[in-house]
Amino acid sequence: MPNPVLSSAFPAPMQGEPYLLTPGPLTTSADVKQAMLRDWGSWDGDFRAMTAELRARLLDLLGPVKDSFDCVPIQGSGSYVVEAMLGSFVPWDGKLLVLSNGAYGKRAAETMRCIGRAVTVIDKGDYLPPRGIEVTRALEADPDITHVLAIHCETSSGILNPVQEIADATYAAGRKLLIDSMSAFGAVELDPQKTRFEAVVSSANKCIEGVPGFGFVLARKTALEAAKGNSHSLSLDLHAQWAAMEKTGQWRFTPPTHVVAAFIEALKAHAAEGGVAGRGARYRRNRDTLVAGMRALGFETLLRDDWLSPIIVTFFCPAHPAFEFPRFYNLMKQRGFIIYPGKLTEADSFRIGCIGHLDHHVMTRVVQAAGDCLRDMGVDTAKPLGDVLDQRMAPDTV
Ligand SMILES: *Cc1c(COP(=O)(O)O)cnc(C)c1O
Repeated sequence: MPNPVLSSAFPAPMQGEPYLLTPGPLTTSADVKQAMLRDWGSWDGDFRAMTAELRARLLDLLGPVKDSFDCVPIQGSGSYVVEAMLGSFVPWDGKLLVLSNGAYGKRAAETMRCIGRAVTVIDKGDYLPPRGIEVTRALEADPDITHVLAIHCETSSGILNPVQEIADATYAAGRKLLIDSMSAFGAVELDPQKTRFEAVVSSANKCIEGVPGFGFVLARKTALEAAKGNSHSLSLDLHAQWAAMEKTGQWRFTPPTHVVAAFIEALKAHAAEGGVAGRGARYRRNRDTLVAGMRALGFETLLRDDWLSPIIVTFFCPAHPAFEFPRFYNLMKQRGFIIYPGKLTEADSFRIGCIGHLDHHVMTRVVQAAGDCLRDMGVDTAKPLGDVLDQRMAPDTV
């Protein structure tokens, strides 16, 4: 079923294509898709200029830090660039403290075990934020820890973790911070002049609204220089990729040329929208429209308002006996919206992403569709089980 055109700035995806209310891959613009219709030679000057533009534009998103930071893109999905960051920046005799409150924290810890480097974890479960005071205590207790990894937005619950207090605690203890900002970079401010860190990673198919195929690290040049010879991997060696790019302007191995072309288009649109502030404002409006509308139907969010990210929102499944998530999913899809299953271990839930090439007019229709789907299923209220709500602790407790 084709989506009608909703507003001139954010026309519906191509005929019959549903909106992806998922945190990447996500709905991209026609211009981004169009940019993939041409073939590029990876060694050619035109493509090398595109690589240089991509690196410069990404660096600009961090502010005036060209002298101290550099950008290194690397082939693969987001997890590849997380592995590249950990294997390149945590030395063999170092130790990483992972601040985990969901699937991506867990994956990072697993990556460290897999590549044979020391790791310890503060595990806050499904949705509680790791706090600065906990980092301070953990670093005091274990002098072997050299680096801390924070997940900026933990996409499995949608929580926006407090990176400022984490950075302050990390550097007060003389350690170094790495950030997985996969799903937040480009829409949530991260200013290295305020929030200190060594490196941050993200990927092409999240808030910049490109298509999947590569990730990138924005790192201090001192960290990149120190990474020489440190990687466990030939292809995920950030220093080697950086050195080759600096020398030849090329990616070390075959780059995803069409994805890069699409990403440059996406970066131009990001700038035209007002950069990080403009993108963040649209996503926050998407979230606010979604949350208010869903609450009016009786749905409850997992997180209290002050921890809700503008990226993705987790809702509890309704307690009504006629509600079945697979059916709800299919009915939403028939109305042109792909939503996302939940990832909580304790309670039944689902997620709706706020990112991608869509605005609050689309979100209004998402809420209408959710109401229609409930009616189709014979669910007269979306209220979740009371005890699920009781379990939802005040997330500012340590
Ligand atoms: C998307 C994402 C990743 C990477 O996932 P891939 O599936 O490998 O792209 C890592 N961390 C976070 C927080 C993410 O949202």
